Amino acid sequence: MDRQGIALVLSAPSGTGKTTLVGMLREEFPQLCYSISCTTRAPRQGEVDGKDYHFLSREKFLRLKDERYFAEWAEVHGNFYGTPLAPVREMLEQGRDVLFDIDVQGARQVKQNLPEAFFVFILPPGFEELRRRLHARGLDSEEVIQRRLANAGKEMKEAVWYDALVVNDRLEDAYARLRAAYQTATLAPRCRRQMLRALLEDFA
Ligand code: 5GP
Repeated sequence: MDRQGIALVLSAPSGTGKTTLVGMLREEFPQLCYSISCTTRAPRQGEVDGKDYHFLSREKFLRLKDERYFAEWAEVHGNFYGTPLAPVREMLEQGRDVLFDIDVQGARQVKQNLPEAFFVFILPPGFEELRRRLHARGLDSEEVIQRRLANAGKEMKEAVWYDALVVNDRLEDAYARLRAAYQTATLAPRCRRQMLRALLEDFA
């Protein structure tokens, strides 16, 4: 097989619109697999165990972490999140592209362990707009919103080492950029090592 799967890693501060953008990408590219994370947070309304997340107790999560079950893991907003390694490895080996929706701490670990992954950071257009969106979605108290805004500033400092930045100003424009980032990943030499190797062997 000349094609290894592409690991497409997406990070964004909360309220940036990442979930909507991920949904649009998965709808347009149904062959794009989704890495289903484990988390210790409670399911939100409408979330399905085994589809959105694997919802685990803290005990179970920590046991799996000790057993090196996760490709990366992090504590985000007081809960644990982790990416199961085996299914991701299997999908990539089968040549399937895999989408990771993980925070900056997890993305750093993936960068170390899987340097051929492609990293996309979704940014809000500005502080005021992010604050407005967090209020408008009506999920969080003022205190939680302040914490999310403070975290957003910290997380965005990491954006500099990502491969692509997608500012979510207008949803359609942001989606066009995300789509372009995915297509850029399919052209990046480090994501196409196997193809290049096979071609070079052909010329040897
Ligand atoms: P939420 O609880 O809103 O679904 O996600 C909160 C944050 O955790 C988001 O930034 C999301 O990207 C991140 N996250 C979700 N799954 C994982 C994971 O497996 N690993 C890491 N490191 N972060 C994750």
